[in-house]
Amino acid sequence: MCGIIGYVGKEQASPILIDGLKKLEYRGYDSSGIAVLDNGVISTVKSVGKIAALEAKTAGKAPSGTIGIGHTRWATHGKPSEINSHPHSSHDGRFAIVHNGIIENYAEIKAELTGLGYTFKSETDSETIAHLIQHLYCGDMVKTLTMLIKRLKGAYAVAILGTDSPNTLYAIRKDNPLIVGIGNNENFITSDITAALSRTHDFVRLNDGEIAMVSADEAKFFNSDGRPIKKTPAHYDIDARAAEKDGYDHFMLKEIYEQPHAIDMAVRTRIKNKLVHLDNVKFDKAYLEGLTKIDIVGCGSAYHAGIVGKTFIEKLCRIPVDCILASEYIYSDPIVDERTLTVVISQSGETADTVAALRLAKKLGSRTLAIVNVVNSTIAVDADDVLYTYAGPEIAVATTKGYTTQVGVLYLIGLEMARILGTVTEKRYAEIAGRLEQLHDKVAETLNNTTVNLAKKYADKYADKHCIFFIGRGADYAASLEAALKLKEISYIHAESYAAGELKHGTISLIEKSTLTIALTTQSALYHKMESNIKAVKAREGDVLAVASRTNSKINYCVDGMITIPECDDDLSPVLTAVVLQLFAYYVAKKRGCDIDKPRNLAKSVTVE
Ligand code: GLU
Repeated sequence: MCGIIGYVGKEQASPILIDGLKKLEYRGYDSSGIAVLDNGVISTVKSVGKIAALEAKTAGKAPSGTIGIGHTRWATHGKPSEINSHPHSSHDGRFAIVHNGIIENYAEIKAELTGLGYTFKSETDSETIAHLIQHLYCGDMVKTLTMLIKRLKGAYAVAILGTDSPNTLYAIRKDNPLIVGIGNNENFITSDITAALSRTHDFVRLNDGEIAMVSADEAKFFNSDGRPIKKTPAHYDIDARAAEKDGYDHFMLKEIYEQPHAIDMAVRTRIKNKLVHLDNVKFDKAYLEGLTKIDIVGCGSAYHAGIVGKTFIEKLCRIPVDCILASEYIYSDPIVDERTLTVVISQSGETADTVAALRLAKKLGSRTLAIVNVVNSTIAVDADDVLYTYAGPEIAVATTKGYTTQVGVLYLIGLEMARILGTVTEKRYAEIAGRLEQLHDKVAETLNNTTVNLAKKYADKYADKHCIFFIGRGADYAASLEAALKLKEISYIHAESYAAGELKHGTISLIEKSTLTIALTTQSALYHKMESNIKAVKAREGDVLAVASRTNSKINYCVDGMITIPECDDDLSPVLTAVVLQLFAYYVAKKRGCDIDKPRNLAKSVTVE
């Protein structure tokens, strides 16, 4: 779930490992550790809490070896503690491992090895891997790993250091990302390219079942039977500064401000001569007419992006769209066949639930289209088609540009499908295409000083609330789901989103004097309905903050505060309201002194089910 870094080269490994772990901090973690081979002995340092604590522990006495592995842990089995943190060593101390993921059959293996006299120090599932390697070791590590792969059930990315191979690291993976970085007289193993980006831009992604054998001057790969395979590195043209704050207080704020560029990349570059171009994704009319439905599958914000997409696609294409949480999809015996198009959405492209959903959809005969940010990630590679969001590395755990670019790509898909189906008039098509072409400018306009200052002002005013409601109708309701999630994940204020018309069916009992309700009011056709819903909140002495379109700004007469978005098509307003409410959530969390980039208990890329 969290971070792995391995280094083998000519320099002292410890500082490089610690630097790599710092780059992985954004993913969320509770403890960390490194293991370095020093004069034939594996020396391990671990610490609970921030990497700074690990760094302090190694200051002046870091192992001097030039090969090692490091880990940031996000505890799944056993509480965060020094004993439970990685690396874990084998009973005889000859092997050390770091592991991301969950070994589902660990209890069974642990019982077997305990019976054979192995002693376990931690409560983790991961420690079994270290002992099992010792148990299976036959003098040839690749062969040993082919046996290990057969024994392990669950999801894993594992890097291995062993005293018998003092110049070589090994790695295996299944359903968890693992990448080999190819440097100059040095090589890396990592779960995320950002950890090694300051030293190399060339990476090889390991596929499920593959084995990597990495020394300072070469990286060799094998399939799960131990047969050598050829893999070519891909060059990642990403500025290492993308993983730095660049003067902003937080990555989240930096990423909020990166949205005009991100939307430009994701949306505008795909519109040429007023026509949408979906890269290599081709739909023909007969295929689209034969669809009984479209399923959009994702988790968290990606699922919320899907709901905005559903509203847009159904309106334009007249095809039923279901949005399904990936974690529910996989166990719901979904009704899917070749007449279903399955759109899977994941920023990282590694979200375990979404990977599983994608595989099930394919098995059931559905064509799959992925919307993914991380190039060559598992979902991007496994889906039949992929549309990248090109948002650049997203470091803050709470997504901002990841989400808005997903919504932007869904708009493009909906518009293009509607053109092919003939369900949109030429005039409306040109209108929306023109609006989408300018969307990045509208996002830039949304980030003007007045809006930012208003977001700050209302954040200061309402930061002490225990509970905040969001309401909206149609596209505004879809957008409010993400706005509520953004606020709760970084500020820890309980926030709920309700379809505005639903309030009177129960939820209104929660409104009392000065309860804050944020009312998204951008849909012109629904203005009067929203006005009534807002009045119902006011009648119970609740406070209302409206986020309104210019046309609907007349609502100001009956609310306690209002932020307006720039003039835009009602169907596209969710991207602009998202930006306003990201700012609001950010400043609320800042006022409350929260750890904005790394909210408690959360991880950036959720690679466990
Ligand atoms: N399941 C392992 C543990 O609890 C690995 C956690 C992780 O992915 O960070 O130690």
